[in-house]
Amino acid sequence: MKLLLPTSTAGSLPKPSWLAEPEKIWSPWALEGEQLIEAKQDALRVSLQEQVQAGIDIVSDGEQTRQHFVTTFIEHLDGVDFEKRETVKIRNRYDASVPSVVGAVSRPKSVFVEDAKFLRQQTNQPIKWALPGPMTMIDTLYDGHYRSREKLAWEFAKILNQEAKELEAAGVDIIQFDEPAFNVFFDEVNDWGIATLERALEGLKCETAVHICYGYGIKANTDWKKTLGSEWRQYEKAFPKLQQSKVDIISLECQNSRVPMDLIELIRGKKVMVGAIDVATNTIETPEEVANTLRKALQFVDADKLYPATNCGMAPLSRQVARGKLNALSAGAQIVRQELTA
Ligand SMILES: [Zn+2]
Repeated sequence: MKLLLPTSTAGSLPKPSWLAEPEKIWSPWALEGEQLIEAKQDALRVSLQEQVQAGIDIVSDGEQTRQHFVTTFIEHLDGVDFEKRETVKIRNRYDASVPSVVGAVSRPKSVFVEDAKFLRQQTNQPIKWALPGPMTMIDTLYDGHYRSREKLAWEFAKILNQEAKELEAAGVDIIQFDEPAFNVFFDEVNDWGIATLERALEGLKCETAVHICYGYGIKANTDWKKTLGSEWRQYEKAFPKLQQSKVDIISLECQNSRVPMDLIELIRGKKVMVGAIDVATNTIETPEEVANTLRKALQFVDADKLYPATNCGMAPLSRQVARGKLNALSAGAQIVRQELTA
């Protein structure tokens, strides 16, 4: 990336109300069949256009074709029964009724590759595609087959690698794995979480990223954040091993979070997507607030490795708020870019 401080989003953006009920995750589709396929493509076009208009440099599909960042991928796999549901605690935080693993998992055909090709046709800008990470996938399921979180994670890593290679061939520039679970299960992250992530990105020539956050701005997450105390040091647990890992970019939640910025020193050498937009509030940041967060991060990240981004996905926000936040991100990055090149 030649441009200094290229901006991007963590992934999801709000869906238009003609596609799905807004300001909600797992929102049901408003259409079906051919109409739904066409509407998803139209929404992807609109979402892309909004990113371009806001001046976002690395664009995405806004996750317009998926209902949820984890479940939609899993729905396309064999070995998981969506009718057979069990209640489990997701990321040690909230109970959810989740599908069951009932047999060997596999990917009968590609999941997002057609969508990625469609996005590639629409733009010449660099594109980033998000996939769930292996550890976050296993945490959103009941496993009655392997009965081993680690074993299932390795199986998912193989499947993710197949999908990632096809996304790369479709022209995706950055493949991002979403691993909010890395902020919760510290022993597992170090024992096999990072190793399974590396399996998922094995052999890729495009850039790779891992997104680790404190979740969408939904109540279960904001309640959890209140219990984390005055300093959030979760990143400290995974960073040393991530610094040694093969992943190119690490995407973090920094805006309004209580993460001490100096933790980023632990991943010195990696590119860092610094979350400079809070997705848990409707208050739109000023460009100066965004710039301040980026300036703080610059103490610990070399300027050519700093990628301004959002803390997490913006799917649960209103379109108007998300638009404002994209503009603020872009304007804030521009302030710091000018300072750096002055
Ligand atoms: Zn996130």
